[in-house]
Amino acid sequence: MNKKNALLLEKKIITEENIIKTITEENIITKEKTTDTQIEYKKNKEQTIKEKLYEIRKSEIHNKGAYAIKDIPKGTIIAIYKGEKITKEESEKRANERLKKHKENQQGVAAVYIFELNENYDIDGDVPDNDAKYINHSCDPNCEVDIVNDEIIIYTIKDVKKGEELTFNYGFEFDEEFIEHPCRCGSKNCVGYILAEEEWPKLKEYLSKKQQKIYNNKH
Ligand SMILES: [Zn+2]
Repeated sequence: MNKKNALLLEKKIITEENIIKTITEENIITKEKTTDTQIEYKKNKEQTIKEKLYEIRKSEIHNKGAYAIKDIPKGTIIAIYKGEKITKEESEKRANERLKKHKENQQGVAAVYIFELNENYDIDGDVPDNDAKYINHSCDPNCEVDIVNDEIIIYTIKDVKKGEELTFNYGFEFDEEFIEHPCRCGSKNCVGYILAEEEWPKLKEYLSKKQQKIYNNKH
């Protein structure tokens, strides 16, 4: 069963001093909802709440990040993305307000942390007890996100060693704003932009066309 999840995750502004990812509008991905995940979910949700598996500290990818404080096996739920359930209308209002405020201050990172729950509601993760909002994007992630029973769960898709940064693919769409979201995940297969893996062929095509254009202009 296909399920449309949209991420409105981190909206960040680039300033000259800071290497920061930029504004994101709605980025939609299609995800497969697996029963396996649901089984795992039931099994280790309680454990996740009881036991902290990561800590938040400065990240080499971007700003803060989440780092495993112990070895975590594949298929473990590491976090539930907590926050306030809000309507799409409220979500857009908050996103715009936060970006505007950030532009006025011109300092640091503007983070919106709004995550799409379903067609009608989003989760505003900008609450004190939601440190899952610091989990960074990677082109070679060790986690994935799924929505089960109206909860946004983040779980490992690989065995993770203690000290590794936890990441997932933000699932952004290839649209006219992709260029504002450069990726600095540092993985071998990094495509240079924060994009859902399904969108990578479009990026490749775009970049090769661009290169052809530069070549044609020079010859
Ligand atoms: Zn990358």
